[in-house]
Amino acid sequence: MVITDGITSGVEVRQQRGLAIAALARIEKQGDYYLVPSQTNPHATKYKVWMNPRKPVCTCTCADHETRRCQCKHIYAVLYPQL
Ligand SMILES: [Zn+2]
Repeated sequence: MVITDGITSGVEVRQQRGLAIAALARIEKQGDYYLVPSQTNPHATKYKVWMNPRKPVCTCTCADHETRRCQCKHIYAVLYPQL
């Protein structure tokens, strides 16, 4: 597997995975964040995605977002119905 930063490369892959999550998984809104299940392990801990209307960047608790600060597939999954 190629590791991409999700900013200069790998954006489309994340968008496609986010689309798959949005299509298959149930994304729950909990107050001001969304609970997004892992694509690889639906029974694992869900990731929290915060949508900040005042900032263009959303945040997620997964390693992809934490290490690279990119829009990860979970963020795309939440954004997808609005795209
Ligand atoms: Zn994420």
